Amino acid sequence: MRVSTGSASQSDSRMVTVVVEAFGIGRQRQAERRFTVPFPQLQSTMQTIARQGGRITAVEVAGALSATATDAPAASPAPAPAAAPSKPAAVSHAAVPVNLYKPKDPFLGTVTENYSLLAEGAIGRVNHITFDLAGGDPQLHYVEGQSIGIIPDGTDANGKPHKLRLYSIASTRHGDNMADHTVSLCVRQLQYEKDGETINGVCSTFLCDIEPGAKVKITGPVGKEMLLPEDEEANVIMLATGTGIAPMRAYLRRMFEPSEREKNGWNFRGKAWLIMGVPTTANLLYDADFEHYQSQFPDNFRYTKAISREQKNAKGGRMYIQDRVLENAEEIFTMIEDSRTHVYMCGLRGMEPGIDEAMTAAASAKGIDWSELRPQLKKADRWHVETY
Ligand code: NAP
Repeated sequence: MRVSTGSASQSDSRMVTVVVEAFGIGRQRQAERRFTVPFPQLQSTMQTIARQGGRITAVEVAGALSATATDAPAASPAPAPAAAPSKPAAVSHAAVPVNLYKPKDPFLGTVTENYSLLAEGAIGRVNHITFDLAGGDPQLHYVEGQSIGIIPDGTDANGKPHKLRLYSIASTRHGDNMADHTVSLCVRQLQYEKDGETINGVCSTFLCDIEPGAKVKITGPVGKEMLLPEDEEANVIMLATGTGIAPMRAYLRRMFEPSEREKNGWNFRGKAWLIMGVPTTANLLYDADFEHYQSQFPDNFRYTKAISREQKNAKGGRMYIQDRVLENAEEIFTMIEDSRTHVYMCGLRGMEPGIDEAMTAAASAKGIDWSELRPQLKKADRWHVETY
């Protein structure tokens, strides 16, 4: 389509409204949506819309209709996003990119940064690692909640190339630098004892040791289990242990980072509640960011920690996230009764029975059978689990 940009420049502060049909991954995919962005962001917004399968029907500059798609009627005045009706939006999976790069022909990403997320005295190693994805054909892109595969350099004991390992993506689709061509991971170095020897995980050690500038084989993206609803008024309960925080960090950036809100034209207005489990305070991940979001958006974000080796549960044992769920069971359950509420769980598989137990108790207090309700939530695409 043709867009009349007049005398626009990078410092142009005019706002532009892009009117789009069939955008996004929610049930509202067919509905018209409008994105209002500063003029210099127009191009990247249009790229994002194209990637999401959206069809631009008009671009309005400073109130005047400056461009109209030739294959669509001119946009009639649409309600501003804030006035849009709130609907329970689950995720239509059709528009989500999958397997753009496969193991036989991976994309070669370049490491741009690799730093520890842990404070002094923490247990083990957990790093935040970012890769530049620019220059691919196709461009490797993804949405929040997906994973990518990493194929570590070198060969296994049989001389064969290593197999890929999947890692949950910790950045939003825009990347940490908002340039739309990076991806970040949150990686713990796997270590275990075997026959009295400490064994280091092949891929996690490769990643934690990698230097900026190194090239890394990347596949994917994959995964449609952990996608966020499009509904700006959805409620999102997040249960994470350790590096299972990765997708939640992406959700929370999308919800509460000012640059993300501006770029996405997606202004989350629901309630987000993160319950995060780590062994020690020094092992908390992205804690300062989450504290900041809570201080900036106290009505929309709640952050609860379960610090297993420093806090005790009601029985005097280690404080796990299921103990926090139990403490807040009634409130959590009331949220779940709202059809706009989604629950996301990521991290250790071991937390699942404990969460189920806590939910069973909370449901039965309301005369509801959790074993019947949970499959219904799953079917409604409101119960999302990715555990290992
Ligand atoms: P970590 O920092 O060691 O923290 C894990 C926390 O969970 C600790 O506080 C631990 O407590 C607690 N915990 C242990 N057993 C538990 C149980 N049965 N129920 C609830 N909490 C329990 O975590 P991490 O090493 O990063 O491990 C995260 C896990 O998530 C890894 O297994 C990783 O593979 C997985 N992961 C999955 C995904 C995914 O599904 N996409 C993404 C990232 C990570 P104590 O140690 O004090 O007992």
